[in-house]
Amino acid sequence: MISSRLLQIAMLIEKNKVVFDVGSDHALLPCFLVENGICEKVYAGEIAEGPLEAGKQNIIKHGLEGKVIPVFSDGLTKAADDVDIVVIAGMGYHTIRHIMESCEVERYQYFLVQPNTDVEKLREYISSHGYTIEDERVVYDGFYYTIIRFSADLHEPYSDMEIRYGPILLKRRDEVFIASLEERLRYLKEINQKAKKEEFDRTIGEIEQILYNGTTEDAYE
Ligand code: SAM
Repeated sequence: MISSRLLQIAMLIEKNKVVFDVGSDHALLPCFLVENGICEKVYAGEIAEGPLEAGKQNIIKHGLEGKVIPVFSDGLTKAADDVDIVVIAGMGYHTIRHIMESCEVERYQYFLVQPNTDVEKLREYISSHGYTIEDERVVYDGFYYTIIRFSADLHEPYSDMEIRYGPILLKRRDEVFIASLEERLRYLKEINQKAKKEEFDRTIGEIEQILYNGTTEDAYE
């Protein structure tokens, strides 16, 4: 079975489309898509020999040769012409950006991206190119992950709030998104209190030094 993160991505894939999974370590998602009748053909792209080889073994183990096709490729540079949907998951913002910058985004029906870092920067990138965010999900799988489906269809730039929290997520306010915000709020409040405590400790130390411990000059060093 695949992780709930990959399962959510699979649920955002339209049936009977050709998918290219960029960075497909072990070809887990492609095998799942074919075995569950979501796709007939999926490309499992990899830039590293080890994960590519692991993918090949997994394809053989599942008897999916010819249906899941391993491709040695940096991003989409070796993608065939019949690809409809692109998945880029489990990577940092900079890698995702590199992959998007080295392909023709307009060529594909839509992208499903799941950045491990800097979700806001990715939305900013999508917005600054005039692309459209079509769907978004937050999934909990040990951590909270955000999955964004976007296309090259033209859209007005998104607002600051939409870039920071997600235009679709803000509208839909689903349970996992709200839970992720509640956790973030708790964390920020805790940090805030700690920061204030340090500030208080420092100020108390400075005042005590001024009052009981010699000259004011020492306190300002
Ligand atoms: N996509 C899977 C997932 O979400 O579970 C695997 C994520 S794994 C952390 C990242 C994979 O992306 C690695 O196997 C790595 O070799 C591959 N990768 C990194 N940069 C890549 C690139 N430019 N093109 C193709 N694959 C890349």
